[in-house]
Amino acid sequence: MAEGVACKRIKVEEIGAGQEGTAAVTAAAEGGMPESEISVKIDAEVLLCRICLDSLKPPVFKCEAGHVLCSVCMEKLREVGCALRLGIFCDLCCKNTSYSRCVEVEQFLDAIKVPCSNETYGCNEFIIYHQKEKHESECTHAPCYCPENDCAFKGATCCLLDHFGTVHGWSPANFSYNKSLKISIARDHRFTLLVGEDQSMFLLTNTLTDIGNALTMVCVRPHESEPNYSCNISAAHVVAGGKAEGRLLFLKDPLVSSSSLLGGAQLGRFFLLVPLELADSSSGELTLHIRIDRLAP
Ligand SMILES: [Zn+2]
Ligand SMILES: [Zn+2]
Ligand SMILES: [Zn+2]
Ligand SMILES: [Zn+2]
Repeated sequence: MAEGVACKRIKVEEIGAGQEGTAAVTAAAEGGMPESEISVKIDAEVLLCRICLDSLKPPVFKCEAGHVLCSVCMEKLREVGCALRLGIFCDLCCKNTSYSRCVEVEQFLDAIKVPCSNETYGCNEFIIYHQKEKHESECTHAPCYCPENDCAFKGATCCLLDHFGTVHGWSPANFSYNKSLKISIARDHRFTLLVGEDQSMFLLTNTLTDIGNALTMVCVRPHESEPNYSCNISAAHVVAGGKAEGRLLFLKDPLVSSSSLLGGAQLGRFFLLVPLELADSSSGELTLHIRIDRLAP
C-alpha cells in the first residue's frame, strides 16, 4: 500500500447469490476516522469456496492460474492426488497443477466486515466475514422466544423479560443463588419466571398431566454457555396449618438446560412428576421449594 494512503477497511453487505448486477459497488465513505471505511455490496458467491461452498477463511490456496479454494478442499485434493499417484488436479484448469497459499485473498477476507444477523435484536457489531458464524453462535443478542401459545414475540433476553411483564403480566420471582425459595402455584399455572441476581432468567414450566404435574426448569438464554447452574426442586404434601407431611418429592438437576424457547417450552432432561394428591386439597395449589446454585467455572 502506498505510503500516506489511509488503510481502507471494507464493510460488506451480502446480496443474494445469483442476483443480477453483482459486483455493484455502492461506496459510501465515512470520514473523520483515522482509518476510513467504505460500504460495498458484493456477490456472496465470491466469498465461498467454489468446491465445498463454505465461506472462505484463511488459509486459502490457489492453483498456478489463481483458482482459489479452502484448506479443507486443498487437503482432500492432496490426499486423492497422493492415493491415485496422479498429482494434484485443478478442475477449472483441467490439468495437474501446484497450489500455493493465496495471501492476497486472505488479506481481503480479513478486511471484510459484515453486520451480525442479530442487528435487529440490538447487536451493533461488524464481524470479520469468516468469523461471523462463530460470533453468532455466541452472540448474546441472539433472540429467545415467548413460550405462550399464539405469541410470536422473539427478542434479546432483556426484551423478552420486559415482554413477559408488559404483555403477559408475569411478575418474576427474584431470587438469590444457593438459597431456597418457596413458591406456591395453582395446579394449572403453566409458567413461573425466576430471575437470579445476575439477571439470568429461569423458567419453571408446569405441565398438567392425567397422573400429576410435570415440573421442569430451564435457563432462558440463546446459547448453552457459562455460567452453569444446578437446580433442586422439592414438593411436599402440605396439610392444614402449613405443616409438611411425610410425603416429599425431590428433584436434583445437576446441570440446568439452556433454552431459547424456540418451539415453546419443552420438558428438560430432568423433570419432577408431582402426583395429584400432593396438591393442597382446599386451594389446589402446589407448594414448591426451589434452589438454584451457580456452579463454579
Ligand atoms: Zn472448500
Ligand atoms: Zn486452476
Ligand atoms: Zn451479534
Ligand atoms: Zn409473548
